[in-house]
Amino acid sequence: MSELHVMSERKSPLVLAPDGIGIGKSLSVTKVRKTYGTMTAVDEVSMEIGAGEFVTFLGSSGSGKTTTLMMIAGFVEPDSGSIVVGGRDVTRLAPQKRGLGFVFQQYLLFPHMTVSENVAFPLELRGLSKQDIRNRVGETLEMAGLSRFARRRPRELSGGQQQRVALCRALVYRPPVILMDEPLGALDKKLRDQLQTEIKRIQRELGLTVIYVTHDQEEALVLSDRIAVMRDGRIDQFDTPQELFERPRTPFVADFLGAANFLPGTVESDGAVRLDTGGVVRTRRHDHAAGARVQAAVQPGRLAVCAPEDGFCTGIVETVTYVGTLVRVTIRPDGAGSTIRLEIPAGRAPLMGDRVGLTADPDDVSVFDAAGTGG
Ligand code: ADP
Ligand code: MG
Repeated sequence: MSELHVMSERKSPLVLAPDGIGIGKSLSVTKVRKTYGTMTAVDEVSMEIGAGEFVTFLGSSGSGKTTTLMMIAGFVEPDSGSIVVGGRDVTRLAPQKRGLGFVFQQYLLFPHMTVSENVAFPLELRGLSKQDIRNRVGETLEMAGLSRFARRRPRELSGGQQQRVALCRALVYRPPVILMDEPLGALDKKLRDQLQTEIKRIQRELGLTVIYVTHDQEEALVLSDRIAVMRDGRIDQFDTPQELFERPRTPFVADFLGAANFLPGTVESDGAVRLDTGGVVRTRRHDHAAGARVQAAVQPGRLAVCAPEDGFCTGIVETVTYVGTLVRVTIRPDGAGSTIRLEIPAGRAPLMGDRVGLTADPDDVSVFDAAGTGG
C-alpha cells in the first residue's frame, strides 16, 4: 500500500487528548560548548526558542548540529553552558528526566513488537493504565494515519511508515519538546515531502516545540519558523527563512540558503558598488566606506534580464533550463568574472546566445566585505 493511498484514506477528524493542545515549552540554550580533544565541536552556542516554535539547525556535515541536539537531549554532556526547558534547568539531568521526545534517522523500532506495542511502550514505562494507553495510542496512530497498521510488525511496513511509527512513539506521551535529527534522511524525495507536511501539521495542531536537524536547505525552509544556520560549531545566523534569504548576515548564509551570486567590486561615494566588470549596482543600505573592496550578493531569483544598456552588468546567455514554470539561466558576464545564475518566470526567458543586461532591486542586493565578514 502506498503512502499516498494511506493518507487519502484517512478521513476522520483528528481527536486530541484535552492536554494535547499548546503543550510546547520554551527552551533556552546559553553558551553551550563541547570539545573532543583539541577539536571544538560546538563553540558557545546560545539561542532562545519560543513555546510552540519549529526551529531547525541547518548546516553541512560536521558543523555541530547533532552535538548541539544531543546536549539538549542529555546524551552528550556540555563542557560548559546551560540548557533550560520551560523555565527548568536541565543541564545536569539524565535524558529520560528531561521529558523530551526524540526521532532519529534510524527508526529504532522494536522488531518483535507490533506498531501498537511500539507506540505504547513509552506509556507503559510511565505506568499509565491499560485504558489510558489504549486511548492514547489509538489517537496518536490516527493522527499519523497509521490506525490500519496497528497490528503489523515493523518489517511489514515501508520505510516511510516505520518513520511515522517512530514519530508516534515520540508523540504519544505528548512531550513539550521534540528533537529530530535528520528523521527523513533515509527516505526518497516524494516520501520526504509527504512526511514534512505531516510533521508540520502535527506540530501545529499540538502546539509542539520542535528542534529539527537537517543539511537540506529546502527542507529547512519548508518546515521552520526559524532556522539556525550552523558552521564550524557556531551559529552564523538565527532567523526566519525570509530574513535569512533576504537579509543574510554573512556570505556563507547567502550562499548556503540561496546559492547567491557574488559580484566583486568597490564602494562608490554614494554607497553603490562599482563592479569589477564595469557597471554600477545600487544596493541595500550598508556601512562599508567608499573605496572598500566588497562583494555584492544577489540571489538567482532576485535578478531580472533587461536591455544591455539598462543593466548594471551585461553578458551572453549561456544556458536556459526549464524547471516547471521557472527557467534557470546562466550568463557569462562581459569582460571577466564567474558565471551569473538567474531564476526567472518561464515567460521572460531569453534565448541562448542573447546579449542581455541584468537588473535587481537595490533592496535585494546585500554587501559583504571582500574578506567575507558581511555587513
Ligand atoms: P553534524 O551533525 O553537523 O554533522 P556533529 O555534531 O555530528 O556534526 O559533529 C561536529 C564535529 O564534532 C565533527 O567534526 C565531528 O567529527 C566531531 N564529533 C562529534 N562527535 C564526536 C565524538 N564522539 N568524538 C569525537 N569527535 C566528535
Ligand atoms: Mg549530524
